[in-house]
Amino acid sequence: MKAAVLYEANTPLQVVDVEQQGPQAGEARVRVMATGICHSDWHIMNGDWTLPLPMVLGHEAAGIVEAVGAGVGNVRPGDHVIFSFRPQCGRCLYCSIGRSILCDGHQSVRWAMLDGTCRLKRDQKDIFQMARIGTFSESVVCPAEMLIPIRKEMPWPQAALMGCCVPTGVGAVTRCAEVEAGASVVVIGCGGVGLNVVQGARLAGAGKIIACDLLDNKLAFAREFGATHTLNAARDKVVEQVRALTGGRGADYAFDAIGGEATTLQILDAIRPGGTAVIVGMAAMSVRAPITPYAMALQEKTLKGTMYGSVRPNLDFPKLVDLYLDGRLKVDQLISRTYKLDEINEGFAAMRGGQVARGVVVF
Ligand SMILES: [Zn+2]
Ligand SMILES: [Zn+2]
Repeated sequence: MKAAVLYEANTPLQVVDVEQQGPQAGEARVRVMATGICHSDWHIMNGDWTLPLPMVLGHEAAGIVEAVGAGVGNVRPGDHVIFSFRPQCGRCLYCSIGRSILCDGHQSVRWAMLDGTCRLKRDQKDIFQMARIGTFSESVVCPAEMLIPIRKEMPWPQAALMGCCVPTGVGAVTRCAEVEAGASVVVIGCGGVGLNVVQGARLAGAGKIIACDLLDNKLAFAREFGATHTLNAARDKVVEQVRALTGGRGADYAFDAIGGEATTLQILDAIRPGGTAVIVGMAAMSVRAPITPYAMALQEKTLKGTMYGSVRPNLDFPKLVDLYLDGRLKVDQLISRTYKLDEINEGFAAMRGGQVARGVVVF
C-alpha cells in the first residue's frame, strides 16, 4: 500500500510502501479515490505547525468504504464517503450544541486512532496520520465517525474538495457569519478557500462581493465564482477602495482566507462600524496581530474565527453535494490540475507558485 509520508520538515514527501493494519472496533477502511492538496498540509511540511513525524499528510478526500470494524453503524462497505478531518463523538458539550467541529470528547492525540495506537507501520516503526486520517494514501483506516456518506453520482475529485476547501469557505459565510441577502462582503485571498468564501457569499445573496488577491489570474477566478469587484492588493489600496465602494463606511463583512498579522488587521479596517470580520485561513501557530481595543469598542466591531467553516459535516456535506449536483455550486472550476500520488510534490510546487486554484491527486 503506497502513501506519501513526511519524514522531516522542509523535505519533500516520500511516496513509499507502508504496512496497514485492518480496522479495529469503531473504525473503517476506505479506498481513497481522490485527495486535494491544501495549504494546511504545507504548514506541516514547512514546519509552521510542529507535529510528530513521520506522518502521512492529506485531509481533504473522498473514497469507498471497503471494510468496517465491530460496532460501526454509520457506514457500510460500498458506501461513498467524504472524510471529515474533525471527529464527532456525539456526546460532548460541543457535539450536543451542534458545534461538532470543536468536539472535545476524545482525549487521544490528533494523529493516531482514538485509542492512541497507529494503523500504519514501515520498518516496524509507527507512522502517524494527519488529523487521524492522512489521505495521501491509497487506503485509509480511521475512526468511522469521521466518514460522511454521500450520493453515489458525485464525481470523485469534486467530492474530495467537499472535505476541506468547499465547506471551509462556504460555511464561513453561511454558518459562521450568517451573511444576509444584500450585504457587502470583502474576501482577502482567492485560493481554494477564498474562492469558496466568494461563492458562499453569492449563494447567500450578498450584494457587493469584493475579492482581493496579489495575483490577477486568481482575481479572474474570483469573478467567475461571483465577485462583483476585484482589487489587486499589490496595486490597489484595499481598505480605501473598499470604503469607496461601500458609501465611505466599510463593508458589512470581511473574510481573511489567508491567515496572518497583516490580513487580520486588514479585515478589521475594511469593515464598517458594527461590522463582522472573520478569520478563515490558518496562520502559522506563532503569529500574533495587534488589534486596537479602543477602535473595537468605539466602533462595535466583531472579530470571529471559524474552523472548517463551522459546518456540521453530517448535515452540510450532503447539502453541498446536492448544491453541486443541482449546478448551484462551482467545484469543477476549482480543479486546475490532477496528479498521480507519485507526482504529489509537483502539486505542492504548483500550489506554492499560485498557479492553481486546487490540485487534486486522483487514484
Ligand atoms: Zn485543508
Ligand atoms: Zn464531541
